[in-house]
Amino acid sequence: MTKAVYPGSFDPVTNGHLDIATRAAALFDEVVVGVYDTPAKSLLFTTKERVGLFARAASALENVKVVAYTGLTVDFARHTGAKVIVRGLRSATDFEREFEMNMMNKTMAPGVEQVFLVSDLAYQFLSASLLKEVMALGGTVDHLVPEHVAEALRRKFRR
Ligand code: ADP
Repeated sequence: MTKAVYPGSFDPVTNGHLDIATRAAALFDEVVVGVYDTPAKSLLFTTKERVGLFARAASALENVKVVAYTGLTVDFARHTGAKVIVRGLRSATDFEREFEMNMMNKTMAPGVEQVFLVSDLAYQFLSASLLKEVMALGGTVDHLVPEHVAEALRRKFRR
């Protein structure tokens, strides 16, 4: 049985993240989405909220579960018993960052494989930070996130 982890800050989960989780669920026996508990960036949603939003978005995927984690992603993978770390790739900028992180992770955990799924064309431009920027400026992002996430965003931005 091959278990994979899909780590990220998911602030909040978007259709792009969900697409990667869905595709990973078709490739691996079990996918554990890991929501960073303490990422080094300012977040809109609490860890509990981010876990809840992703769990609801992925509720139809039977072999996907969502948990919070802290510390190194390679340690999270090892503790979970996962041999694979899944990441999504949108652009060349993503690639540069992921390439470096991949190399660093390999030095720490040679037994953990990292698998990169290229973003669907429809989500290439989609990032959680851009979504929040659009919301802050009064735009709508309903077509880019699950309905309950759109509602949660509207509540945060008091709309
Ligand atoms: P980070 O892990 O850097 O905090 P995110 O939480 O936004 O970034 O994303 C988690 C993972 O999902 C990363 O591998 C990221 O590249 C991927 N991802 C983000 N947005 C998309 C998208 N629109 N399509 C595919 N993959 C994405």
